[in-house]
Amino acid sequence: MNPVTTSIFELFKVGPGPSSSHTIGPMLASVEFMAQAAELPSQTLDRAAGLRVTLLGSLAATGRGHGTVRAVLAGLMGNRPQSCPPDILDSLSGFESGTVLLAGRTLPLREADIVFDMLARAERHPNTMIFRLLDVDGAALFEREAYSVGGGFIEWRDQPPAQRPAPAYPYDSMLGFREVLAATGLTLPEVMIANEAALTGQTPKQIEARIEDVMRAMEDAVERGLETEGVLPGPLGLNRKAKALFERYRQDPQMHDRPILALCACAFAASEENAAGHTIVTAPTSGGSGVLAAVLYVTKNLRPTAGVFRKALRDGMLAAALVGMLAKHNASVSGAEVGCQGEVGVASAMSAAFLAQVYGHEAKLVENAAETALEHHLGLTCDPVQGYVQIPCIERNAMGAVKAYAAYQIAAAVVSSYHMVGLDQAIKAMAETGRDMCAKYKETAQGGLATTVRC
Ligand code: SF4
Repeated sequence: MNPVTTSIFELFKVGPGPSSSHTIGPMLASVEFMAQAAELPSQTLDRAAGLRVTLLGSLAATGRGHGTVRAVLAGLMGNRPQSCPPDILDSLSGFESGTVLLAGRTLPLREADIVFDMLARAERHPNTMIFRLLDVDGAALFEREAYSVGGGFIEWRDQPPAQRPAPAYPYDSMLGFREVLAATGLTLPEVMIANEAALTGQTPKQIEARIEDVMRAMEDAVERGLETEGVLPGPLGLNRKAKALFERYRQDPQMHDRPILALCACAFAASEENAAGHTIVTAPTSGGSGVLAAVLYVTKNLRPTAGVFRKALRDGMLAAALVGMLAKHNASVSGAEVGCQGEVGVASAMSAAFLAQVYGHEAKLVENAAETALEHHLGLTCDPVQGYVQIPCIERNAMGAVKAYAAYQIAAAVVSSYHMVGLDQAIKAMAETGRDMCAKYKETAQGGLATTVRC
């Protein structure tokens, strides 16, 4: 068995939008490359005269709209995604030239040093980055190749992932996870906490505190978005809508469909913050970050049945994390690999699981809710207009949140054993569908709405 060894906090990453694979991953790879280069012998470092970062595949196709340039620049300058203030990224939007420090040496850096290579093939992964440290003649002194594999995760060529401690309760599928529950008598949250503690060395209290931080960051993104009006950055001229949706929600307390309007307003809010490049939480990615944030916010703050306890919310986050980890482990959460089914589709499945867990249902029903939400996103393409994470992404997050709510309602209304499709089967279908999906529908802005919409 190849067990799941993802940490909860690798899945839920606080960082800048608008795209985990095109923003958070490249920033992380850039700062790690600089750290690797700083370890070179001083004779090599003394010959360093510049840097070049070449982006291939989906990063080349949609990197400009996804904010990859400023993310790479920020990373080369030493910023990490989880601590990079949004105003640093905003200040880099018009960057033309400057300098970076490498082991005490000052190197020039120009916007043109970030090269979008649309012609070269990304042989190993659709999100490939090649980092080079150059001498005065432009020859490479040091070269590394990295892959942004979705959700802000990166891998380096020829570098096997670091060995991780074994989880307390190994599993590699939802079926395996339910077997763990049956064999141990533990609950879903208890197994998730025990595994996180074994993998990371944190205590349960520390893990709980970090989950609270993640929820606070999600709520902050929703609240900022609900209060902000205006036009989002980029050439589309897209107006923010979250505030207007929320005002409509507030004005009519008698409206029958208020929960749906609340979910839409909150999903728009977090997604608009993501599109603006502000701080969000990947769940499982930045592009899908509005879905769980909205479901959490509405469950905690806007439902008429107030009184959901914080522990129930934390447990819901653990159920959501389980679904995201399984999708990442057995398929992908990268739009460049499997289309939007892996981003908003998985986000919706995570959110349905969150609801089922928050309201105290057994693990089988949590699985059923997640499966229903994912099943009805299968085949969903990624076709961002002009490569910006705005159309269809922002509305799609709202649809993902509403579908999560519907999926939970369907699962909760019927006997669990009536449900015919397992989560593992839906994830396998997503992987196969993604593999067969034409490349132009996988975060390249070369198909679908990206070609039919002219703004
Ligand atoms: S269409 Fe979906 S996968 Fe593609 S950029 Fe938008 S949110 Fe991400």
